[in-house]
Amino acid sequence: MIAERIHSILDQLSEGVRLVAVSKYHPSEAIREAYTIGQRIFGESHAQELQRKHEELADLSDIEWHFIGHLQTNKVKYIAPYVNLIHSGDSPHLLAEINKQALKVGRIIPCLLQLHVAQEETKFGFTPDEAMRYLESGEWQSLKGVQLAGVMAMASNVDDEERIRNEFHQVHHFFDTVKQQFFADNAAFKEISMGMSDDWHIAIDESATLIRLGTCIFGERQY
Ligand SMILES: *Cc1c(COP(=O)(O)O)cnc(C)c1O
Repeated sequence: MIAERIHSILDQLSEGVRLVAVSKYHPSEAIREAYTIGQRIFGESHAQELQRKHEELADLSDIEWHFIGHLQTNKVKYIAPYVNLIHSGDSPHLLAEINKQALKVGRIIPCLLQLHVAQEETKFGFTPDEAMRYLESGEWQSLKGVQLAGVMAMASNVDDEERIRNEFHQVHHFFDTVKQQFFADNAAFKEISMGMSDDWHIAIDESATLIRLGTCIFGERQY
């Protein structure tokens, strides 16, 4: 089942779009099943759960762990030794802590700037204006343990396709603007992470490079 679903998604992806299989709340055995057919990137949103799975799946040495949920600063140290990409860089304070923990373990951790474009109030992230001011401040340039690698966002959880498209469009536009202004010579700044099970086709239309799919691969989560 997992294998068929992944194959069917991959068949619809063009070159340059990568699938993050969001395995939160699903057992390590489900990850193994996806790994067996070649899936390598997995997304988790709780530090302790990721830590446990990282240990349980230690034999899968080329697995890529992406952290996609809100990350509390006091949890950064647990995942800093091995996490491959943190999508949810949602505040200057968190990025500074990731920098500190990365340097402690001698790493440079790729991070995305999480943008808040949805209308829900509970979502974390920089508004595009805040993110622009953060980049203009130049503060990020002194974070030698953090590699800014692009942007991430979630759209509003609504059925209104035009609204979702508009939010993804804002993200794409923001990416293009800051790419040109701050990262023109920086090939590592290249990712637009957006699109979940219900809206990934729209995200791809708006140039997503990483889509984060959970339910449509692994089924409903058991909380
Ligand atoms: C859980 C989660 C996803 C996956 O959501 P689905 O609707 O199950 O595909 C994607 N992105 C983030 C940030 C998540 O927390």
